[in-house]
Amino acid sequence: MMTDEQFARAVHGSGLVTRDQLKDYAAQRIAGESLARTMLRLGALPPGEILRFDPNALDNGAPNGNGGGVVPTNGGGAAAGNFAFAGPGNGGNGQAAQPMARQPAQPLKARARLEATAAIPANVPLEMPAEAAPIGESAEVGLGANNVEKIEGRFIVEGGDDNDDDPTLAPVVQWANEMLKMAISMGASDVHLEPNPDGLLPRYRIDGALRSGNMLPVEISLPLISRLKVLANIDITEQRLPQDGRFRAHYGKRTFDFRVSTLPNLHGEKIVLRLLDHSSLVTDLSKLGFSKGDEKRFGSMLNRSHGMILVTGPTGSGKTTTLYAALAASRDETKNVITVEDPVEYELRGVTQTSVHAEIGLTFAAALRSILRQDPDTILVGEIRDQETADVAVRAALTGHLLLATLHTNSAVAAITRLQDMGIPAYLIASALEGVLAQRLARLSCRFCRQPISADEPELEDWLHYFDIPPGTQLMRGVGCEHCGGTGTKGRVAIVEMLEIGPKLRRAIMAQKDTDELRRAAREEGFTSLRDDARTKLLAGYLSPTEAMKVLVGHED
Ligand SMILES: [Zn+2]
Repeated sequence: MMTDEQFARAVHGSGLVTRDQLKDYAAQRIAGESLARTMLRLGALPPGEILRFDPNALDNGAPNGNGGGVVPTNGGGAAAGNFAFAGPGNGGNGQAAQPMARQPAQPLKARARLEATAAIPANVPLEMPAEAAPIGESAEVGLGANNVEKIEGRFIVEGGDDNDDDPTLAPVVQWANEMLKMAISMGASDVHLEPNPDGLLPRYRIDGALRSGNMLPVEISLPLISRLKVLANIDITEQRLPQDGRFRAHYGKRTFDFRVSTLPNLHGEKIVLRLLDHSSLVTDLSKLGFSKGDEKRFGSMLNRSHGMILVTGPTGSGKTTTLYAALAASRDETKNVITVEDPVEYELRGVTQTSVHAEIGLTFAAALRSILRQDPDTILVGEIRDQETADVAVRAALTGHLLLATLHTNSAVAAITRLQDMGIPAYLIASALEGVLAQRLARLSCRFCRQPISADEPELEDWLHYFDIPPGTQLMRGVGCEHCGGTGTKGRVAIVEMLEIGPKLRRAIMAQKDTDELRRAAREEGFTSLRDDARTKLLAGYLSPTEAMKVLVGHED
């Protein structure tokens, strides 16, 4: 096993990193971690380069013989072999580094590297400016917006018949585990692995956007993809047809499901892993970023014993998360709650969940008919996308059931006209519909680097004008820091508009008024639009102006 000193000398000698960079990496070592592994973790060099110098860099097993950081000394240089060790506390400071012989031995945590430590998102309160008060009761706002929490624990793949604790594991297993842990620690929702002639480039979807990792060497591409296919119970001999599967992994006390799909391409098979974190399921609407008023109105709709409540928005707008939170809020042991989903993503305790299987005739409509024979109180329909489903759903809502569903429309009011277009008579819509929630997800400004936007900013005036905000009002945005990977945003928050169907609006629906008149009736009953909510969250400093504008694209007030 290579010592940090040998490794540092080799890497420095190659000219790939400077002395200062090495110092910097050494300063960021976690106790018990080898320098090679630190650099792997930090993405300092492509993993292939690091493994070239230390083929055992990924090993979790034997200690590497020192517990301190390594820094090149100022005199002599790497060629002369003058590397000195520093304790973790002064590793970043070359002057403080002592010659190796005089450095007291650091206590080694023999298993420290076996207990994987990762920065994972946890729900911690966001520090928001005082004017942010309208956002919910809870101070915890946003999905994945959170601080970092160190969790300790082993990473174990179910059915993998091996785990991270075994130093004799095949390298490919370690590569796979490292990558999955990386995805978890970054809070990624998906991992993309696309083979190309230079290797395998992992990309991680974080807060809705893809971020590239380091290119993995060509030699590892095929074994890594095969490993993931084996885990997901996918036929590894079949490489020409798209396939899908899933596996489950435990990281510390948390459980993750990985949904795996393959798609053949020019250079092999592209694999996408969707990551479902059981412990991250939000069951509190205020955490999603609902304002107090919206939360209360939505809550009172959910308390009804019958009627239809729709959640609308484009793909990826967090509709399912909201519906799950709604179900979690409304379930109790006196009620029979049944869902039909495509497919079931999260297990909700106390709820009967069914997946559609269109290929064997179990469509949303067919499943819904069967559910109605199961004496339900509350029903969740994953999506209403055809007339038949809409028809059964409306009838269910009219016959004493609370029915929740999603619908693909841009605004809340448009849901009414969409149901009409699907052939549902206006009088049935007017009596069945209780409310519609339209939703988007916007990226939260990173709370670690959020700053007021300078009054000199040329576009500031346009932004204020767009949101009808008085000139001179201070807006904020993230400028990028280590916590947000330099993006200026961290986590997401729901932007919503809530249409509660009151008497005026009900009459307007019955009279088949157009969307303008429907919207007017809604306004008279206190409807606030997506734009209003975006403005509130912009003023509160949650959103940057560009992010606030982005969620309104395609939306009509
Ligand atoms: Zn930041």
